[in-house]
Amino acid sequence: MNKHGFGRATFFVSCFLLVSVILAAIATVSARIFISEAESASAGEGQKPLPTVIIDAGHGGRDGGASADDGTLEKTLNLAVAKKLERLFSDAGYKTVMTRTEDVALGDENSSHKKLDDLRARVELAKEYENAIFISVHMNKFPVPKYSGLCVYFSKKTAGSPALAEEVRMTVAASLQKENGRQIKGAGSEIYVLDNAPCTAILVECGFLSNPSELAMLKTEEYQSKIAACIFTGAANYMSKTITEEVN
Ligand SMILES: [Zn+2]
Repeated sequence: MNKHGFGRATFFVSCFLLVSVILAAIATVSARIFISEAESASAGEGQKPLPTVIIDAGHGGRDGGASADDGTLEKTLNLAVAKKLERLFSDAGYKTVMTRTEDVALGDENSSHKKLDDLRARVELAKEYENAIFISVHMNKFPVPKYSGLCVYFSKKTAGSPALAEEVRMTVAASLQKENGRQIKGAGSEIYVLDNAPCTAILVECGFLSNPSELAMLKTEEYQSKIAACIFTGAANYMSKTITEEVN
């Protein structure tokens, strides 16, 4: 695509995502107003809170995750996207919790099972919240550089997880990656945080570090914001539907 065409396409994607984010935020607020009205009608009952959103930036500290040919580490990109995601949810009025906000590993430094301890600590944190959804942010890598695109995994053990994953997938396919035909995937024991999650949970592989052009985009603030906007919009759509269904 020529330079002008690309610029215009990028502009439209940005507009679409901006509108989507605004609509998702409005949906969140209206779902809450709806609940307030329904509950004040049934006098005395407490207001049903929005779910707490637990945002998990994968890896960290001694665990860099996947590494790109240029030395970029997955843990760094995960945290950048996770922080943008946290901002979108908190701006929309959600209570948010991040499993890490810095370049650190979780769990006991002296453990002989550091990796498992790190993953366990993320799940234990999620267990502290009764009404929560868990979103883990990761990057993909594959030996063949041609593969690209975002992919969403879901917990097969907790209610709502496939629906949440599907909302995020649909948002990505409708706006950011129209050519992305990847379907959502149920996670087995190979993805510990999903296999052991106590709540509705997904893991988003945001893109491939092994694909040079996708890597170049993933390193930019602009593209990180677009990824975060897609995940937020999909999740907010899921939650506004769920909340409305529960009230009905
Ligand atoms: Zn990872």
